[in-house]
Amino acid sequence: MTLTAGIIGHPVGHSLSPVFQGAALRHCGIDVTYEAWDTPLERLDQRVELLRYPDVLGANVTIPHKEAVIPLLDELGGQSAAVGAVNTIVNREGRLFGFNTDGPGFVRSLRSEVAFDPAGRSFLLLGAGGAARGIAFALLDAGAASIVIANRTLARAEALMKDLEAVGRGMVAATSLPASPAGFDCVVNTTSVGMHGSGAGDQVPCDLSQADGGTLAVDIVYVPEETPFLRDARAAGLRTVPGLPMLIYQGALSFELWTGLDAPVDVMFEAARSELARRESMRSATSS
Ligand code: NAP
Repeated sequence: MTLTAGIIGHPVGHSLSPVFQGAALRHCGIDVTYEAWDTPLERLDQRVELLRYPDVLGANVTIPHKEAVIPLLDELGGQSAAVGAVNTIVNREGRLFGFNTDGPGFVRSLRSEVAFDPAGRSFLLLGAGGAARGIAFALLDAGAASIVIANRTLARAEALMKDLEAVGRGMVAATSLPASPAGFDCVVNTTSVGMHGSGAGDQVPCDLSQADGGTLAVDIVYVPEETPFLRDARAAGLRTVPGLPMLIYQGALSFELWTGLDAPVDVMFEAARSELARRESMRSATSS
């Protein structure tokens, strides 16, 4: 029996997940088709019910449904309940289990790409949206010493700080933007600034020339690959990590939850990079 999996969101036409999950499944010889399931909110409960069928492995969940799927599931695993968002659903004999692999995928990207262990380190997180929530909980879980959350809307940063304080690990503080990056081991852009099509503009929300020389600068925005934040960080002589590794590793963790196999991350990177290059060349061809 051919199994199915897919990504639930609205819209999902732009998602890279079908490209790199499909490549990983084919590479491992697993008979699963991975589809893009564009789902408006009013059809979300119907779509989730279909995941209970025996031929469905599970799903990824993306914007805008990561919070709304939670009441439709049977159990929550990992830190998804604390984070308040699910990006991975696993079908186990008709019961649906929700997980959040965004934060753990971020931590794995730091370890794999630049051998950076969050334990005992200080972090400045720019932004307090859904992605920042997942990342902050995963950083505390990985032993981060302190996290400052800096957000344009201060109340949102303070709300996340309160939720993180309940974990009872690490020091957490909230502030507004722009924030000074001086004195941190790692500065992470989790705002939508620089993301194509987001409408958030290109104004980097901190002056990276003020960061200490050894600071690691990470942008989780992955379209385009070269973002204004990464450009500023390189100009300041900082080490950088782009957003694609987090995307691949959150997907790799989903793959591992569904299949029980190690994800072929090299295959996933290659598929995602060639698709991004194809889209970029189409974009330049249509804009010239
Ligand atoms: P979200 O929940 O909508 O949060 C957006 C965040 O960006 C908020 O903190 C918002 O501040 C801030 N923001 C938006 N425009 C801004 C501006 N002009 N100046 C300063 N701050 C601004 O979105 P999300 O789900 O957290 O995603 C954020 C970004 O991360 C997106 O670009 C998304 O594509 C990317 N992402 C990447 C991965 C990956 O795997 N690499 C995974 C998830 C998300 P306010 O609270 O003040 O509005």
